[in-house]
Amino acid sequence: MKQLLKDAGLWREAALIDGRWLDETPHGNYELRNPANGEVLVRLPRCKEAETIVAIEAADRAALQWRRKTAKERSEIVRRWYELIVEHKEDLATLITLEEGKPIAESRGEIDYAASFVQWFSEEAKRVYGEVIPATKPGQRILALRQPVGVCAAITPWNFPAAMITRKAAPALAAGCTMIVKPASQTPMTALALGELALRAGIPAGVLNVVTGNDTRAIGNSLTEHELVRKITFTGSTEVGRVLLQQSAATIKKCSMELGGNAPLIIFDDADLDVAVEGVMNAKFRNTGQSCIAANRIFVQAGIHDALAERLAECTRELKVGDGLEESVNIGPLIDAAAVEKLETHLSDAQAGGATILAGGRRHELGGTFFEPTVVSGVSREMTIAREETFGPIMPLVRFTTDEEAIAMANDTIFGLAAYIFSRDAARLWRAAESIETGMVGINTGLISNEAAPFGGIKQSGLGREGSRYGIDEYLEIKYLCWNGLEAV
Ligand code: NAP
Repeated sequence: MKQLLKDAGLWREAALIDGRWLDETPHGNYELRNPANGEVLVRLPRCKEAETIVAIEAADRAALQWRRKTAKERSEIVRRWYELIVEHKEDLATLITLEEGKPIAESRGEIDYAASFVQWFSEEAKRVYGEVIPATKPGQRILALRQPVGVCAAITPWNFPAAMITRKAAPALAAGCTMIVKPASQTPMTALALGELALRAGIPAGVLNVVTGNDTRAIGNSLTEHELVRKITFTGSTEVGRVLLQQSAATIKKCSMELGGNAPLIIFDDADLDVAVEGVMNAKFRNTGQSCIAANRIFVQAGIHDALAERLAECTRELKVGDGLEESVNIGPLIDAAAVEKLETHLSDAQAGGATILAGGRRHELGGTFFEPTVVSGVSREMTIAREETFGPIMPLVRFTTDEEAIAMANDTIFGLAAYIFSRDAARLWRAAESIETGMVGINTGLISNEAAPFGGIKQSGLGREGSRYGIDEYLEIKYLCWNGLEAV
């Protein structure tokens, strides 16, 4: 598979610790498989406590020099990283499709998205301003400085192997922090390639480390327990987020959490149906439905429900399923067998409760972890499919009558990441947008992610924001200086 890359130097079979490639540990290797065909892609070293601690200590040693660089110097180095990511877009996209399975066009899109954070935060590096606050006593000045948090640990999921890393590493490095990245054990190859490009960009040894391995607890515990790690930034499931928050409590680490979702998508009866169909298809099937902001419950108002359901079923039947490396494929494999089993459980529970399958509904004839893109109607709030994140290509339709009913059902979840609403009535949209309990609302669109916007959730979907001008705050502390003895002359 290495031969698929134009630049073989981006194929790394080793962890990146303190600027060096560690290709062996006493704990052996683990196998990484291509989800499209089950073939072994590569064997990677298993890092455990000892290797993670070496990475933490390296990040700590590198921190002083890195934070002492001027903001402009850091900005230029991070900017160079961005340029290299763009230059190697095709290879990075290939790595994503090989290890994660997403269609290659979407992988290219992910690299654009991932690179956009690096570009954005290379610029923000220069705008970490402090403040002079009017003093309360004569002869005093009050100053607020914004300083880097220090050593940060990033734990990231498999579904966006590049963007979930750059959305954390770029603001951290821009702010003057150093970082240890623990990528998902199923998708470390993209992370390692990003690490290689970081070295080529001139990011000094120890500033960005990538630990590989499938002993997740050993690595995770070392990161959360170590006193030198001042910040945990996590993207993944709510369940694991809770564990990491508990583990970080002992050393009172700063934490940001991008967790699971259960996104409602509401189509009111006055919506432009062409816009709504496009919006649902995008919000549902991107990355084969394996996105935290994927529409998980589609609420359709009674007057348009049946006609819209038929259109959505038709569009869904047209989606092409296959190996993501084929250009024309829309739906790739699921990440693993457990993901397929979850879809089957959700579907059979919905059918037992009276839901009807309008399209798809089974494992795909290609076998493996391929699943037919599916539309199911007659879903109700008590079904598992409406309560849990399905994380796959199933579109559950729920019929509603009044706006109040739709909003109440949308909010009937512990999650609060993203929501989508479709209507032509501005007042109705405004009321709905204000009432929905999520961190993000797409209005007449199913695509909301970009580097300029604050991404994040409320309720049990997370803490903190990534991207935008707010994203760098997660990697900064405020230091207050009370300067006395400055009486006016
Ligand atoms: P996950 O099981 O929570 O895993 C995420 C990361 O946490 C992986 O690197 C995993 O390592 C690691 N991990 C698991 N258990 C751990 C532990 N006890 N200690 C330390 N680290 C641990 O989630 P996933 O299945 O990879 O990703 C899907 C989830 O991520 C979904 O819920 C999705 O909604 C969420 N997500 C949220 C956002 C957002 O921005 N809010 C974005 C993308 C995804 P291993 O890979 O080694 O198990």
